[in-house]
Amino acid sequence: MADALAAAELSTVVDLVAWPEGPAAEPEDTVVVVANSQGRARLTPDGDEVLTGTNPVAWQDPRAFLPYALEVADPSPSNSRNAYPLARQRLARVFAHAERSPDLVVVHTPRHYWPEAGGHVGEHGSLDVIQSRAPLLVSGPGLLARGVIEGWARLVDVAPTLAALAGVPVELHRDGRGRALDGQSVPALVPPGSPPARWVVGILWDGAPSGELLAMAQAGELPGVARLLERGTALDGGALAEFPSVTLANHTSLLTGVGVHRHGIIGNAYRDRPRAETVVTNTGSAWHRAVEWMDPATTTVFDLLRTADADADATSICVNESIDRGATTSTMQLIRASGSPGGADDLGHLLPDAASSPFLESAAVLRDEYYAWCTQVDDAGLQQVLQAWADPAGGPRLTWWSAVVTDAGHHLGGTRSDPARQSLRESDRRLQALLEHFDRLGVTDEIAFLLTADHGFESTDPSCRGDWAPALDAAGVPVHDVGPGFLYLDDLWTRR
Ligand SMILES: [Zn+2]
Repeated sequence: MADALAAAELSTVVDLVAWPEGPAAEPEDTVVVVANSQGRARLTPDGDEVLTGTNPVAWQDPRAFLPYALEVADPSPSNSRNAYPLARQRLARVFAHAERSPDLVVVHTPRHYWPEAGGHVGEHGSLDVIQSRAPLLVSGPGLLARGVIEGWARLVDVAPTLAALAGVPVELHRDGRGRALDGQSVPALVPPGSPPARWVVGILWDGAPSGELLAMAQAGELPGVARLLERGTALDGGALAEFPSVTLANHTSLLTGVGVHRHGIIGNAYRDRPRAETVVTNTGSAWHRAVEWMDPATTTVFDLLRTADADADATSICVNESIDRGATTSTMQLIRASGSPGGADDLGHLLPDAASSPFLESAAVLRDEYYAWCTQVDDAGLQQVLQAWADPAGGPRLTWWSAVVTDAGHHLGGTRSDPARQSLRESDRRLQALLEHFDRLGVTDEIAFLLTADHGFESTDPSCRGDWAPALDAAGVPVHDVGPGFLYLDDLWTRR
């Protein structure tokens, strides 16, 4: 089957295929084989071994395509010019879940345009560095104001970094089984020994690409981000997403500090092998239920805050975010309490009107249904945060706000397109409104801010079309292709 997928005829759409070489107890020990039309390699804990041709993941520099001008000069590069940071470690985690791991993954090329499978002009989900690179910026009292510095972190570092900002002792950065998290607080952003901030505000702009966000902030197009950067620090290499670089897998990783193999949401969709069913977690009707699919021993940053605070007066609010376990109040709690079986899909009538949004720059984007919905959701999200902060006396110790219009803008037009840049400017206007509210309350200087995303983005090439399903059919192996790209061979289930 791997040979069929790595055939030369599919090389414009298949970037690489990967599978584990036998079962391994821990991803740290797993050997992963990667293959494409140009070669095959074994990725082992001791290094990569080329089996034939060239290594499909030869370049693994997490700071590839920096400075940003290099990314702009070679958008959506082909495999031989592309970088795949921590390829073995990230792939091994996807193969390390006892019940949900695929047998083989197919990573499609950055240029592959695939509307038949739900694809868009702008795309993410792959292993390569640009789709995996989210911004990471921390700003606040007692922290270093270094602007943009050389460095990189991982999205699993976000929860421990938020916890460190809130003063949760590092010995409590553990899951429910007492195991250390996969991530850790980033010392370049929060030097060890930094005093805890009185309040912590974490903001996620879904899919906001790191390089573009920092470039626009430095060019004066994102005054809110620039304001955070003036008294804070961002890593030029951002934070590396877990594989696959999709939304729910990474929201879960960044708020729990562990990889997909530990929290269990290994993709937006996966096969539940014992139940022989496909689970789709990333839909409007499922977001409020996402924590049900999370391993019960996983701890969110909200759980860590509770554990650290014996008096339980360290309140938290989790806005427009599926991974809300342990939060004092959250949007998803409201949706669950509404009892609507369809969740957010049933509650659209409660959202503010998109066309009259005070943050909308130009209405043409509202022809895109998803962009319009995201505009409504982000306006409602800002309102929920402002309500929680009506009075600083009741201000939550930890505020987490996920905004989504940046995902819509980048799917709609691709990276650096007009809709993408508009979505970043609109998100920045909402951020400025929040900062101005904090200014009026006189609390801005007592808040530590963290800004990040769940993945990056790349633009596809509308002329790059194709599908590997006919090749799989011809190979004659019965397979469930979930995602697509997660391949499950039912007859191999018994080997696990
Ligand atoms: Zn996303």
